[in-house]
Amino acid sequence: MACRSNQELKAFVNEARNCTTFGHIADYIPVLGKARPDDLSIAIYYPDGECVSAGEIEKKFTLQSISKVISLALVLMDRGKEQVFQRVGMEPTGDPFNSIAKLETTAPAKPLNPMINAGALVVTHMIEGEEVENRLQRLLSLIRQMANNPSIQVNEEVARSEFETSQLNRALCYFLRQHKVLDEDVEDLMDLYTKQCAIEMNCLELGRIGMVFAMNGYDPDSKKQLIPEDIARICKTFMVTCGMYNASGEFAIKIGIPAKSGVSGGIMGAVPERFGIGIFGPALDEKGNSIAGIKLLELLSENYQLSMF
Ligand code: GLU
Repeated sequence: MACRSNQELKAFVNEARNCTTFGHIADYIPVLGKARPDDLSIAIYYPDGECVSAGEIEKKFTLQSISKVISLALVLMDRGKEQVFQRVGMEPTGDPFNSIAKLETTAPAKPLNPMINAGALVVTHMIEGEEVENRLQRLLSLIRQMANNPSIQVNEEVARSEFETSQLNRALCYFLRQHKVLDEDVEDLMDLYTKQCAIEMNCLELGRIGMVFAMNGYDPDSKKQLIPEDIARICKTFMVTCGMYNASGEFAIKIGIPAKSGVSGGIMGAVPERFGIGIFGPALDEKGNSIAGIKLLELLSENYQLSMF
């Protein structure tokens, strides 16, 4: 069973939109604070090319932490599992996404997983290429193929806003550098990381990326294996165990699909072998996940038996 009608999806959006009033917009990156709290959009993208959608579907948003899944895929392709997991762990953490606390107690400064900022910074550091620009283009190229849109770009205003205010991420980088987990200039890494987080798209494009993950890295349109199957599976496993911040356990129990959210209010879902989901709803709950986005996924999971468990 699946939702194949825009009307049906619209009814779910109308219901879920009610809870946006209980959420808050992330404004620690100043430009993100301009978002409209009652925006809500969703797209479900099927491997046969059909896409159903509802809400303000043309609204663009930046990927923020959702980009961590795709940079991980790229780096696993670039460097192989052994090299990547020597530097970043595989275990979930109950700490906030930007916490520095565990780095001091996990020798030798090995971030617990690639979805928290410390781990994501190490992953971005490992993207192969000569200059920041060249490494960014390699990531953008994978994202454009997955989204099937060659014009996807970085929102420079959001990137700059984060670059100028990201002192906690700089602190993580300096700590990691002191312990020789990173050997890159911190400002260069921050430049690349903040641009990666500021890659911008709408929910239709995000849903298509989710569909490629749902199909284990295979793009049925181009008939290309964009990400090797074993790597796509690793990414989806991290989405299940650490994709929804400190609410990942509850999300797995209540909704039961691999998903990754970001502070801009985006959520990418990948329902294994069925379809991808892209959501944008910038009002966040207390754990930092889109409040109406979670409600929408709850409704979909109940109505179409999406849980993989
Ligand atoms: N760019 C954001 C940061 O590093 C991403 C956070 C998020 O979406 O969780 O703070």
